[in-house]
Amino acid sequence: MSPRPDLGPKPRLGYTASLIERVAERRADAAAMAALETDANARAYVVGGEMIVLNKGAEIHDPIFTLARARALGRTAEMVFLGLIESAPRFAIALDPADAETLKARDDLVVTDLRSIAIRGLIAADHLPPLAEGKALLTWHARHRFCSNCGAPSNGVEAGWRRDCPTCRTQHFPRTDPVVIMLPVAGERCVLGRSHRFQSSMWSCLAGFIEPGEAIEDAVRRETREEVGIVCGRVSYFASQPWPFPTSLMIGCHAQALSRDIVIDRVELDDARWFDREEVAAMLLRQHPNGLTTPPTVAIAYHIIRAWVEEEVDLG
Ligand SMILES: [Zn+2]
Repeated sequence: MSPRPDLGPKPRLGYTASLIERVAERRADAAAMAALETDANARAYVVGGEMIVLNKGAEIHDPIFTLARARALGRTAEMVFLGLIESAPRFAIALDPADAETLKARDDLVVTDLRSIAIRGLIAADHLPPLAEGKALLTWHARHRFCSNCGAPSNGVEAGWRRDCPTCRTQHFPRTDPVVIMLPVAGERCVLGRSHRFQSSMWSCLAGFIEPGEAIEDAVRRETREEVGIVCGRVSYFASQPWPFPTSLMIGCHAQALSRDIVIDRVELDDARWFDREEVAAMLLRQHPNGLTTPPTVAIAYHIIRAWVEEEVDLG
C-alpha cells in the first residue's frame, strides 16, 4: 500500500462547533426573554430569504447588529432567540426579503448568500454555526405559517422554537431533514459523482435524503445502488454537519463497495466513476493535472474524502 500523502493541517468543517449555549430551558420564560432582548450586549444576525446582511469591513465582514440597528434595516418578519455567547444574547431576525434586496444598494453593507459567505471566508468562522442555526430556524417559520393539521394560521412561541395552532392546539416543532452523504470505497479506489449543478471540474460524494422508516445504513446502501448501481456492504459513520439549505443535517459515511460496475442514474447525476487514491489526493490538493477538484473545505464531502485518503477507514 502506498504511503499516505501529506495534505497539510485539517481545515475546520463549516457550520459546526458552535459557541452558542442554547439555554433551551429559558425559551418558555417570556419575562426572561424580554430581558434578554433589552440586554445592552444583545446582538442579531439579519437574514432576508436566502440572503444574509453583513456590515462591510476591510478584510472580512461583520455579521452582527444591535437589535435596534437590525430592526431599522427593514420590516421584521420574524425574530428568534439562538442562545448565549459568553452570556451575551444572540438573536436572528428575518427581514422581508424585498427589504433585504434594497439593502444591496448600500455602501456600508454587503448582502449575499450563506454559501458564498462560507466558501469565500467572508466572515469569521465562528459566526457560521449560529448563522446556520438562525437561517434554518427562520426558513422553517417562513414555510410553516399554517397548521399542517387543520390549516389555520399558527403562532410562533417559545422564542421561535415552536409554532402553536390556536384552533386545534397542535404544537409544531422546527424540522431537520437528515441526508446521507457517502463515499463508496474498495481498497485503493473510491467512487465520486458529479451533480448536474456542479461546476464542470468538481467531483464529490453521493448523497440523498433518508426516507421515513429507513436507517442511516440502509439509506446509504439504497442511494448508492440507485445513483451508481453499486452494491454496498458495511457502512461506517464519519461525522455530521448542519446544512442550512434549507434545513438539512448531512450524515457523513464511508461504505464498503461490494460490486464494481457503475450504472449512472442520469436524472440524478451528470457522471460518476472510480478514482484511485493518488488521483483523489491531487484533487484535494488542487494539483490535479486536468484541474479536477473536490468540494471546498467548508463542506463535509471534502472531509469524508480526505479521511479516506489520509487514514484507514474502518469498514471491518
Ligand atoms: Zn391546527
